[in-house]
Amino acid sequence: MSRTIIVSNRLPTKVQRTDDSLTFQPSEGGLATGLGSIYREDDNVWVGWPGLFVETTEEEEYIAEQLRADSMAPVFLTEAEIRDFYEGFSNSTLWPTFHYFAQYATYEQEHWEAYVAVNEKFCQAVLELAGPDDTIWVHDYQLLLLPEMLRQQRPECTIGFFLHIPFPSHELIRVLPWRAELLRGMLGADLIGFHTFGYMRHFLSAVSQILGIPSLNGQVETPTRTVLVDAFPMGIDYKRYEQTASSETAQQHEQDYREALREARVILSIDRLDYTKGIAQRLRAFELLLQRYPEWREQVSLVMLVVPSRDQVPQYAALKEEIDELVGRINAQYRTISWNPIHYFYRSFPLEELVALYRLAEVALVTPMRDGMNLVAKEFIASKVDQRGVLILSERAGAARELSDAIIINPTDAGQLAEAMHDALVMPEEEQTQRMTAMQALVRQYDVFAWTKLFMDRLAYSKIKQLTMA
Ligand code: UDP
Repeated sequence: MSRTIIVSNRLPTKVQRTDDSLTFQPSEGGLATGLGSIYREDDNVWVGWPGLFVETTEEEEYIAEQLRADSMAPVFLTEAEIRDFYEGFSNSTLWPTFHYFAQYATYEQEHWEAYVAVNEKFCQAVLELAGPDDTIWVHDYQLLLLPEMLRQQRPECTIGFFLHIPFPSHELIRVLPWRAELLRGMLGADLIGFHTFGYMRHFLSAVSQILGIPSLNGQVETPTRTVLVDAFPMGIDYKRYEQTASSETAQQHEQDYREALREARVILSIDRLDYTKGIAQRLRAFELLLQRYPEWREQVSLVMLVVPSRDQVPQYAALKEEIDELVGRINAQYRTISWNPIHYFYRSFPLEELVALYRLAEVALVTPMRDGMNLVAKEFIASKVDQRGVLILSERAGAARELSDAIIINPTDAGQLAEAMHDALVMPEEEQTQRMTAMQALVRQYDVFAWTKLFMDRLAYSKIKQLTMA
């Protein structure tokens, strides 16, 4: 029987070292939820890095054995590999380039070599498990070379690839010294998926401009195979957010927050610390709102969660400082004894508290400079069980292609953003309900389970199509 092998940089379980033992914590990410129903079935397996450095073979064996019981297989990475492959090439070359921050990108031959070596390491780990007829689904920008590496060794395998970040204009891709290798790496797949048609078009034009391979109707004809390319906007586990939002615990948290904030109206902002998220621009726009509309002072607070991330990369540390400074300055200037303009948290929140914040907020500000999809926008919608609330959404988040009933803004336009916040705060309830209901219908229908099924069905179809054409 053929099996399905999921491959991503991180496993859906985080292994951590405590004083004298190892703990295994399932991660709550959207991908883990969406694919949970697949990798745990039959003989299927998920291959990835378990998230810690291991020094002895005994420990490696112990971890592998524990993970095997839960359908996972570890790829162990060294500290040097994490530095050069992960923090280096993945997060300092590909991440900024693909998010249109080419000025932050570094181009280090050593990082590239580590990237190739780690992709090979993943390839070996998959080959140990994969039979000739298996289906392999590779995820994200850390593993762009893996589809072609696998294809070389297992020509008959069905290989899917999904990119979770934007795919930029070929003008950015062409800057990369290793652009051709990266594109060829992806083309080893039978099906390549993106969040939006825009990303897909950029990919096809990069393939045509850089590799000289034309495409027609989302089909790339390589000399040996036809590769299908399509858009699959990723969803969330809608019911989980809806149910959590209706729970006693979430409602109690919401009530506590409301009392603590003395009934001030809440604008919410939630992101991982990242320069792509437009956090500093958002703070300046909030300050502009307070300047232009003094009537909102003491009436509205911005609740801002920033989840710590990648603080080893210099730009992230600098951004953290900029945010700290902006929050400090704005709060110092506008606060009163009984009111704080910005409530800023630099940490991660458990699901019930997160959902309580979604419930509490009248307005969610999701204003990234670039974002592959942005799941916070969809989680906010799913948590609004009373159908009230307004989403302000950047035109440059993948989610904007679907959520046209949000207030869509250009995140660099502080004036437009301040006006959008004002409009959201005065929006009649009827209009809020109308927009929210429409967005809920869409996010409910295209949830993460539908996303997985669409991709897997299309991947199976791509193989049948190739076989019938051969
Ligand atoms: N999130 C979290 N803990 C928090 C705040 C947020 O786990 O304290 C989650 C949030 O629920 C969402 C994810 O982090 O699922 C962020 O995903 P998104 O697509 O918005 O951005 P990314 O971080 O992947 O760039």
